[in-house]
Amino acid sequence: MTGSEMFRGRTGRIAWLWVGAVSVLLIACSPSEPPPAGEEAAPPPAEYARDEATRTAPVDEERPGAAAAAHGIDAVPARRTLVIEGVNVVATDEPRVDTGRTVVVRDGRITQVGAAGEVDAPDDALRIDGSGRYLVPGLAEMHGHLPGAGADPEHTANILFLYVANGITLVRGMQGHESQLRVREAIEAGEMLGPRLVLGSPAQGWGNTPEADEAAARVREYHEAGYDLVKIGEGPDPETFDIIIETAREVGLPVGGHVPDEVGIERSMEAGIVTIDHLDNYLEALVPEEYRADIAPLWGVASVAEHFDTARIPTLAELTVERDVAQVPTMVLWEIFFGDRSGETLRAEMDETRYWPAEMVDNWVEGVAARHEAIGHPEGASRVVDTRRDVFRALHEAGATFLLGTDSPQLFSVPGFMQHREMALWVELGMTPWEVIHAGTRAVAEHFGEADESGAVCEGCRADLVLLEANPLDDIEHFTRRAGVVVDGRWLPESEIQARLEAIAGAAQAGR
Ligand SMILES: [Zn+2]
Repeated sequence: MTGSEMFRGRTGRIAWLWVGAVSVLLIACSPSEPPPAGEEAAPPPAEYARDEATRTAPVDEERPGAAAAAHGIDAVPARRTLVIEGVNVVATDEPRVDTGRTVVVRDGRITQVGAAGEVDAPDDALRIDGSGRYLVPGLAEMHGHLPGAGADPEHTANILFLYVANGITLVRGMQGHESQLRVREAIEAGEMLGPRLVLGSPAQGWGNTPEADEAAARVREYHEAGYDLVKIGEGPDPETFDIIIETAREVGLPVGGHVPDEVGIERSMEAGIVTIDHLDNYLEALVPEEYRADIAPLWGVASVAEHFDTARIPTLAELTVERDVAQVPTMVLWEIFFGDRSGETLRAEMDETRYWPAEMVDNWVEGVAARHEAIGHPEGASRVVDTRRDVFRALHEAGATFLLGTDSPQLFSVPGFMQHREMALWVELGMTPWEVIHAGTRAVAEHFGEADESGAVCEGCRADLVLLEANPLDDIEHFTRRAGVVVDGRWLPESEIQARLEAIAGAAQAGR
């Protein structure tokens, strides 16, 4: 079935979704939320994963974006020839700004980049004033969670828009569901507006850990279904882990995500995991053997934080560089988990929560309390936060590859907005703004082996771009001062982005 067949019709039903019955819907769409506080934290029952696949996936039935259209906003702006004139282009191969460039975009690609006189722009092109502005490639979210079973199509469309609105034009989905394969197809066909999707399989872990003798078949199944990556979670034993890695290598899929505790960070790197997400296993590797057995995955580490052998950090950092394993450290979220700010404090601090359904934010408030209670050991938790920062700095100083990602929409992690918080923290931890931008653009393109066609403002590159009002190399916060976003060759001026964000906020807060 093609995307267009899928998304036709039933526009009427969308209208009432948008205007009135948001609260009813929120209950209906809550299964699409990843389980709170780390998908990893509260494993679903074993049958959940299997059941998930057979549940209804209303993305088939509705036409995402119809509600936006009802507000007079184009759900998917048409691709046009664009000419961005006299703009400062931020290079991603080295820290450099090329001034006075004119950039032509056609059919989803950048076709010319040059000085004004060198570029021939067609007369019917849409001309965009770039003077005094800065053009950067769109960013990647390398650890995102896209809606799965039972997802409300409007919520799905909004999540995709929140990413694009924040200049995120690529999302690596890290908890797969078959409905996402159809969303990816619809975006590629121009039937939905959204970032380019790179889709991880359902996580191999938690309630969905394969037995050794079924692991290979699963990997082949995911490959055939069209997933781009095998997502690893907590659970597989070393033997099963090796089978997953070997089979994935045979079929040409990378394996990334978490490191199962039983496998450990060193062995996972030696086996060939391509990204290590969340940094948590680095901390577990600092726990001396005699304390290791008792700690629960992910959260238990705070209880033994006083025993961290931090002298091991440089060795782990060196091994990481040697093995060339990329890091997606998701720092901000983990500082929410192990930090001491309450959910109410976070809600007050984070303006962007108004774009997220109010009932879900209520769940986040409770989720923070539950997480803090599960972690216990406030002193140990604070040591975890400090040590994570030490590991981050050591990896950076050793020259490890970092890829931007946030784990949204986990606790207080509003898609797209969280990325800017993550970027600011990385600068605070010692990266230059250029290094942070590189980690969200060129480093990602290199990771996917496509540095000649994405992650840069270059001729032949994908037209995924962000036009900024100020130089992001001076201050990473300038990444939030947008003039507009180009996604897959479609221009969204900031005025339209704000109008649709307001519509999303209105619906999210309806009933408050
Ligand atoms: Zn995650």
